[in-house]
Amino acid sequence: MPPITFLGTGNFLVPERYWNSFVIDRRILVEPSPSALANLRRAGLDAKDLDAVVISHFHPDHTFGWPFLALELLHKGRVRPLHVIGPPGVAGFLAEMMHLGSIDSVQRDLHARIDVRYMEVDGTRQLAGGALVLQAFEVIHAPRLSCFGYVLEVGGTRIGYSGDSEPCSGLEQIAEGCDVLVLECAELHRTPTHMDVEAVADLSHRHPGLRILLTHLGDGVDKSIAKSGLEKVELPNDLDTVEVP
Ligand SMILES: [Zn+2]
Ligand SMILES: [Zn+2]
Repeated sequence: MPPITFLGTGNFLVPERYWNSFVIDRRILVEPSPSALANLRRAGLDAKDLDAVVISHFHPDHTFGWPFLALELLHKGRVRPLHVIGPPGVAGFLAEMMHLGSIDSVQRDLHARIDVRYMEVDGTRQLAGGALVLQAFEVIHAPRLSCFGYVLEVGGTRIGYSGDSEPCSGLEQIAEGCDVLVLECAELHRTPTHMDVEAVADLSHRHPGLRILLTHLGDGVDKSIAKSGLEKVELPNDLDTVEVP
């Protein structure tokens, strides 16, 4: 029964929620968002315990916390292997982030002291990183950017995650293949590139038994969803831990 701890449940517009990020079973961090490390600490979790970091796509709200996470891992004396899973080019993208921030020395130390194992997903095969088994599905979000959602198998539970996605066949496959779905809903009204309240309702009606935990919430989405009466759709807050059977 792996718990999911939400480090952030918003997009950048919502003052009371930080950027979308969550931790499964205290050891799998999904999305090193700009606020991930700060809220990892607030949640009483330790970066040293992480086995894997999973990235859905390279937009900054999903990735720009990486340098701080790397520094924390070094500071805590982490030595065990760390799997970093993301779209093609993930190792180069994260290295470039360090370079642009003029912290190449952190990048060198990271690889000198920690066995960082990068794994690129392509949406065609199942991957295993440590105790985590996952399948990536390409989703539609931003032009010229590889964007993925996932089904992460942890302790026998299949946790789906949409990444950022508009309604698409990849997202349907994720919904069909998971026991619980962490789903983005960035928009109140229909907009390409993201889910909106109506699209969440449609998806929930197509998968009536599926428990849905919403994240990446845009302005006003929580109130609108709360009014909609969707029984299987939940609205966790930042720092909430949800037990998933
Ligand atoms: Zn995005
Ligand atoms: Zn996003």
